[in-house]
Amino acid sequence: MTDFGGAIKKSENYDFAILGIPFDKKSCFQKGAAMGPDAIRQASTSQAINAWTELGVNLEQDTIMVDLGAIAAGEDYFALFPRIQEIVSEVVQKGAFPIVLGGDHSISYPVVKAMAKEIGTMDILHFDAHPDLYDHLYEDRYSHACPFARILEEGLVEQLVQVGIRAATAEHKKKATEYKAMMYEMKNLKEMPHLSFSHPLYVSFDMDVLDPAFAPGVSHHEPGGLSTRQVLEVIHSLEANIIGMDIVELNAPLDPSGRTAAAAVKILMEVAGKVVRNQKTKKR
Ligand code: MN
Ligand code: MN
Repeated sequence: MTDFGGAIKKSENYDFAILGIPFDKKSCFQKGAAMGPDAIRQASTSQAINAWTELGVNLEQDTIMVDLGAIAAGEDYFALFPRIQEIVSEVVQKGAFPIVLGGDHSISYPVVKAMAKEIGTMDILHFDAHPDLYDHLYEDRYSHACPFARILEEGLVEQLVQVGIRAATAEHKKKATEYKAMMYEMKNLKEMPHLSFSHPLYVSFDMDVLDPAFAPGVSHHEPGGLSTRQVLEVIHSLEANIIGMDIVELNAPLDPSGRTAAAAVKILMEVAGKVVRNQKTKKR
């Protein structure tokens, strides 16, 4: 079940659509991200959660959120592309906002490809411990360590901004420079300006951007990360027209306390609240 404090409705018309992609075949280390979507759904269903976000939006009353279920994800990565294209197009053409639950980070490439086809010029804000800019990892160009290399090479986004990075290699930095991507590493976080984007913005959120203290349920523990509060501060202060997001790499079997799933629920709700609040401000 999916709930988010009563926000999830059954409706043909909606403003937000949750889509799960239970796929982790491109994880190079530990599998388990395929169970992420259901772990987030489960964590969203608790009497401890109400529908209010910190920005004063009530997701139950102020918007319509639906859960469209899972995009069938078998063994074959490329079989995902047409399936994702179809459902993402349907959501965007309704004027709605897709919230994609991964899955490992390889799913962001087909999702962004689908979004770019519908939206045209767009920017990406990418939260991650890792730049995911490898040309290939262990001979695989579609590994979860590579999606942003493919996205940049194909020109699917105008501007890529990465936040929370703390595992960049020389190869990553070269790639980022080549494509004028902005990489805000943890070590330089104090220098990060207030983020504003001039094109529609897609947010790609890898749970391992959070410090393992806040999000232990990820395949790659990279200490020295962001606190949940630091992430929320970035989200709350964003100046952008956010048009879609993914939350990936929640490794459910490594999250017995449910702490990581709870963080994912919080982040998802705060992004949605931010989007609703922006729309309200615009209408005024
Ligand atoms: Mn990643
Ligand atoms: Mn990562």
